[in-house]
Amino acid sequence: MKLLLLGPPAAGKGTQAEKLVERYRIPTISTGAIFRKAMEQMTPSGKLAKEYIDKGQLVPDDVTIAIVRERLAEDDCKNGYILDGFPRTLPQAQAADDMGIQFDKVILIDVADEEVVRRISGRRQCGECGAVYHIDDNPSEKVSLCDKCGGTLVTRDDDTEETVKIRLEVYHSQTEPLIRFYREKGNLVTVKGQKEVEHTTEMLFQALDK
Ligand code: ADP
Ligand code: ZN
Repeated sequence: MKLLLLGPPAAGKGTQAEKLVERYRIPTISTGAIFRKAMEQMTPSGKLAKEYIDKGQLVPDDVTIAIVRERLAEDDCKNGYILDGFPRTLPQAQAADDMGIQFDKVILIDVADEEVVRRISGRRQCGECGAVYHIDDNPSEKVSLCDKCGGTLVTRDDDTEETVKIRLEVYHSQTEPLIRFYREKGNLVTVKGQKEVEHTTEMLFQALDK
């Protein structure tokens, strides 16, 4: 089973990926998460990625493709995987094709720009375990502390107001063309992601069972 989650920033790709992991028992490969870990550990690729990510820009295709290629070669990917955040440009989609990756389904989680901005401005993430919260939609029990591990909740460096605008522009210009790319291959399904998490999950499972 190979699935791809497409959609704007904060569409809920990571959150829905967790539901899919439970259902299909295959790992999620999130390029955003891989880059954040590399940035935290200050590896060479992490330092390079940070230059782009903090400005709301995409990490160059060659770097991203190499990292994904390496990750997908690992043992846990042999029965399939869920890709979250890759491919995100046409050259990346072409590279995935060239690697022989054929997605069973490409799931577009559709969310309007205003909602993206609202979600990102309230998003908080645990610095320790990576759990994601929203100050209104999904607050932690204790202010600024993670329910799961007690770690401190922080705002991602790329979740500023200016950066969100750039990320949305980048999404519309560089990632949206993938919608047509996969629609033409015939494996695209669209799920409305505007409402709460549970609603999106329900729509998602319905779309996958069709
Ligand atoms: P979001 O979906 O909220 O924008 P992600 O966690 O998926 O955030 O990604 C964070 C950042 O990491 C992106 O804004 C981008 O700079 C970088 N990134 C993630 N995936 C890719 C990719 N496939 N190609 C290039 N850059 C990427
Ligand atoms: Zn935590």
